[in-house]
Amino acid sequence: MAKYTPMMEQYLKIKAEQKDAFLFFRLGDFYEMFFDDAVQAARELEITLTKRDGGEEGSIPMCGVPYHSASNYIKNLIEKGYKVAICEQMEDPKAAKGVVKREVVQLITPGTVMETNMLKERDHNYLASLSYFDDDSFVIVYNDLSIGESNIALITDGWDAVFHELYNQPVKEMVVSSDLPESFQQALREKLNMTLSFQDEITFHAEYRELCDDLDDERLVKAFSRLLNYIQNTQKRSLDHLQPAKVIKLDYFLSLDMYSKRNLELTETIMKKSKHGSLLWVLDKTVTAMGSRTLKKWLDRPLLSKAEIEQRFDVVEGFLNDFMTRDDLREALKSVYDLERLAGRVAYGNVNARDLIQLKQSLEKIPEIKRILNQFDQTGIQELANSLTFPEELVSLLDSSLKDDPPVSIKEGAIIKDGYHEKLDTYREASGNGKQWIAELEQKEKQETNIKSLKIGFNRVFGYYIEVTKANLHLLPENRYERKQTLTNAERYITPELKQKEQLILEAEEQSVELEYQLFLEIREQVKESIPEIQYLAGLVSQIDVMQGFATVSEANQYTRPVFSTENLAIKNGRHPVVEQVMKDDAFVPNNISLDQETDILLITGPNMSGKSTYMRQLALTVIMAQIGCFVPCDEAEMLLFDQIFTRIGAADDLVAGQSTFMVEMLEANHALSNATENSLILLDEIGRGTSTYDGMALAQAIVEQIHDHIHAKTIFSTHYHELTALEDSLERLKNIHVRAEEYDGKVVFLHQVKEGAADQSYGIHVAKLANLPPPLIDRATSILEQLETNDKPRLEDAGQLSFFSDEQSQIKEKKISAAQPDNQLIDDLKNINLFEMTPMDAMNELYRLQKQV
Ligand code: ADP
Repeated sequence: MAKYTPMMEQYLKIKAEQKDAFLFFRLGDFYEMFFDDAVQAARELEITLTKRDGGEEGSIPMCGVPYHSASNYIKNLIEKGYKVAICEQMEDPKAAKGVVKREVVQLITPGTVMETNMLKERDHNYLASLSYFDDDSFVIVYNDLSIGESNIALITDGWDAVFHELYNQPVKEMVVSSDLPESFQQALREKLNMTLSFQDEITFHAEYRELCDDLDDERLVKAFSRLLNYIQNTQKRSLDHLQPAKVIKLDYFLSLDMYSKRNLELTETIMKKSKHGSLLWVLDKTVTAMGSRTLKKWLDRPLLSKAEIEQRFDVVEGFLNDFMTRDDLREALKSVYDLERLAGRVAYGNVNARDLIQLKQSLEKIPEIKRILNQFDQTGIQELANSLTFPEELVSLLDSSLKDDPPVSIKEGAIIKDGYHEKLDTYREASGNGKQWIAELEQKEKQETNIKSLKIGFNRVFGYYIEVTKANLHLLPENRYERKQTLTNAERYITPELKQKEQLILEAEEQSVELEYQLFLEIREQVKESIPEIQYLAGLVSQIDVMQGFATVSEANQYTRPVFSTENLAIKNGRHPVVEQVMKDDAFVPNNISLDQETDILLITGPNMSGKSTYMRQLALTVIMAQIGCFVPCDEAEMLLFDQIFTRIGAADDLVAGQSTFMVEMLEANHALSNATENSLILLDEIGRGTSTYDGMALAQAIVEQIHDHIHAKTIFSTHYHELTALEDSLERLKNIHVRAEEYDGKVVFLHQVKEGAADQSYGIHVAKLANLPPPLIDRATSILEQLETNDKPRLEDAGQLSFFSDEQSQIKEKKISAAQPDNQLIDDLKNINLFEMTPMDAMNELYRLQKQV
């Protein structure tokens, strides 16, 4: 057995209970860490690693942070996903016999932080839990402790669906049971970047009952209890600020798979992970943090109900029609503080008087907001106005009790207004009178002694004193004063009378400070009773803010109100909401998109960089904007209501993620094919390009056919396999479109215009020409192309058969095709260059190699 000093034994005992947290062990003015904690913390926090004598075992690693500046270090660790256990001294070290008693008083974790400086204003901070019932059924609980909100989703189609649901949610910490399969744990930790916490035992306490009213399935109750147990066990917190849990009915919303959430850059860009450049960046014209958080939730779950969407449109239109009143509304909303988080902190018991003043000021704005809303000539907005209640009693309580500019501390007085509490007024009067008496005494003493500079002062050590400068000492009568303190230039005296008054004043002050504190706690308790109303108002204000934001952005960017159809999708002069913002001088070229009753699939061809994927994303973003209730970037829009969006759009980070592009493509395509319905939207960009030409082309065609014949989802499919455009002849509901590019003055000019029909296929040769390949070679290539176009164009009509995938057959086909071509290695090589897959450097090298052969 290792032998340590008694204090280290104590440390190790406490640490054994806090295995997955940094233990901040209070030692005088420092929090110290030892052993591995110290080594790791020194590295993470860039602080010095030292040693401490541990007893017979010799020295042990140690590092520490000063108690008064600990919060920054804690913040740093929490942001990195760690947990921190705060262990305090529970008795005065001077009075302690033996080792000072210590206990962990708080466990701070990424999902449970409440401190304003550790929370992002415009983001939720979720503590979540995941419960696993069988291979198919899981329950996710999302909880935001800072506002006391819980939302619960039951998932019945397996782990994959769980992963898609969790992707992109602001979950910082996930509570699971330790028997959750290791591969799931690993995915949560590594792929979704969540801190895991474990809670195996689930006990249902009576106090949970009210919170569980809405939960109509035992599994939901169980999963929610897991989270509540965890909060109670680790945080030692009361739960009375939690609102009842709400069920998220997932089939009530348009679902976006993980790939779409990422590829469409709804809330952050893929590469830089920044809000700038995302759809949220364009749409977020909210003026409150609550509104911004709500907008993110809406973006995550667009609606399926036409009626609900139209309601939002109505309100947005109302706001849009009256920009002057909307400006007033925006101004009024700006003075509303974060009601949701204020309510959360009131409930949790960590608000100070300043917070309550913010609460009062925000609530005082409600009548004004109501008045402004009533000025809009739109029923939906007036209904919102009518729903706004005004908590008059609460506001008048706060107004009559709290001073307007109280200090941060709630224990030092100066919080409560005069006239609010009789006893407090009496104390204040007593101390006021005493101070008045002292002021008069000063006058009297001045006159009697004739010392103009005589003054009465106060300090914490000596209390009140009479101060006389040394030059004037000779003017003092003898024996009247008692000397208390000597300074360089002056002497300080007291008199029994002065001390008597001082005692009265100090007593009155002490009592009044204590009373103020008690009164403040009472007020806080009273505010607690209004929490449901504050939360309700917060919800309404957030919605109003989001929709005024929609109106603001719709006006600024000239969006139009879409109409929903059950038959056709027709967008006239549509634009990509983000790309058009990034481009200057109206350079974005608008395009029509049409998927009518007769058309399910648009097959889009055109050279690289012509705008194919922009066109596809544009449609997805327009659908999402419409289904969250925002107007859309185009001149006219007839929209279909989609139940799901699937995307396979090439992203630069595929390779970074360590999977081959092709595997990622196939995974994403498979996800779409196995989940899409006829009401879904599928966007597939350049499927098949990650493998050899014929494999890829065959797969691409098989996928198109599968969608066409069996799924009937609306689909845009982009490809550089020109051969696939022949499918238009055999697949009735498929239409070719292409992005135009033109040769102008020896250069390929991208017009970004989408037109009907297939692209002509000679761009590759244009590009080769631009790269200065020798003219005879270009001529030869052009004539081969002509031949190919008229005769032996390899058709792949039978590619839907599985046998096509076998290596042997594709080799045979390849041979057949190459046999039909002239025996010219150079031309073959040139033809086989896959420009879409090459980096500029590869292209240069390849050209260099070819050039050397001519
Ligand atoms: P592709 O998918 O065909 O390779 P992209 O959609 O990635 O091409 O578009 C390439 C670039 O062309 C984009 O970065 C964008 O700047 C520009 N672009 C695309 N569509 C348009 C448009 N309609 N108007 C103006 N520029 C566009």
